Amino acid sequence: MTKHNATRPVSPDIVTSTSFKAHPDAIGFSANDLQLDAPHFYTRWSNPTVAALEDKLAELEGGEAGLCFASGMAAISALFLTHLSNGDHLILSDVCYAGVAELVHDILPKYGIAVSAVDTSNLAEIAAAVRPQTKLIHVETPGNPILRLADIEAISRIATGCSAKLSIDSTIATPVATQPLSLGADYVVHSLSKYLCGHGDAIAGGIVGKADALASIRREALIHHGACLSPVSAWLILRGIETLDARMAVHERNARAVAEFLQNHPKVKRVFWPGLPSHPQHDLAKRQMANFSSLLAFSVEKGPDLARWLAENVKTFSYAVSLGKAKSLIFYIPSQDIINSSYRLGDAASARYKDWIGEGAFRVSIGLEDPKLLISELEAALENV
Ligand SMILES: *Cc1c(COP(=O)(O)O)cnc(C)c1O
Repeated sequence: MTKHNATRPVSPDIVTSTSFKAHPDAIGFSANDLQLDAPHFYTRWSNPTVAALEDKLAELEGGEAGLCFASGMAAISALFLTHLSNGDHLILSDVCYAGVAELVHDILPKYGIAVSAVDTSNLAEIAAAVRPQTKLIHVETPGNPILRLADIEAISRIATGCSAKLSIDSTIATPVATQPLSLGADYVVHSLSKYLCGHGDAIAGGIVGKADALASIRREALIHHGACLSPVSAWLILRGIETLDARMAVHERNARAVAEFLQNHPKVKRVFWPGLPSHPQHDLAKRQMANFSSLLAFSVEKGPDLARWLAENVKTFSYAVSLGKAKSLIFYIPSQDIINSSYRLGDAASARYKDWIGEGAFRVSIGLEDPKLLISELEAALENV
């Protein structure tokens, strides 16, 4: 075969093989002996297509290494369960992705892990929650679903001061907006199911950080808890990442148009989007986000009525959960429901949540459509309530 015939694809291939031919000198049978430079052996341990995505994530976040999982939740639970054990203490955002809130309130205490859920936009509250047993601070910024931000650099100083690790869920920001490792975080975690995939057709999660730390998480949690990423999903996400920069530019432009429309609409009480000067933390957003992304939240007087109208009538939007895809999504989250079911907030924190967004938040993920279509649909919806 001449070199002209050698197969050198421009785009990634999907390697679906579950195992790889091994040499007895190159790899041991136990995952506990897995070396950083070991060849691929079994796809739950590592896989070439998944490894290509891991390398890409590390490059995007400016980290040493990446590690992928079957979902964002699998990545986050792997991080928690590798770093925390009986007697340890976790501090995290009291308002964050509902699945993470339920994991820490319902599951971690069964393993003897103590949790303090605090308002991570308030540095004094984080500092006051620190205990000698605090091992990990986990912060989502911007926070789902109300777009509250946290100052990564300032929180990293608190984490360093108490020798805890800091992990940042940067799913909503994406690496286009923010690189948490450069601001002092030890880990950045992503639900790759959102903007990085970009098309709402694959579920995946990832962590970026120091190579040796991720090797421990690979050995302990990925291989033994077993939530490995399918190579087909890894391939879809690699393909999505090729257009990430271009998509984020359009996401932001469209979100700005919609946020400004909502802000000027008489029936809209409040709009939260980090790119609006009216966002209470707009200065922090400007400092920490090079792109304001496209998740926004707004409230109206008759939230449940508007939710019903939207669910029955929208065509450009989909009335559905999730975020970060080419198609726009809208979903209503009643405040008391999520406070009770996911966040378990006390009186002061509940009052703070409702001060921010009122009795319910419309969480809107603005897609890549013509913003005029999105605005005219919201205009029609608001006319009907
Ligand atoms: C979606 C999401 C998750 C969970 O990710 P999955 O891929 O759905 O498991 C975690 N954090 C944030 C901020 C999310 O938006």
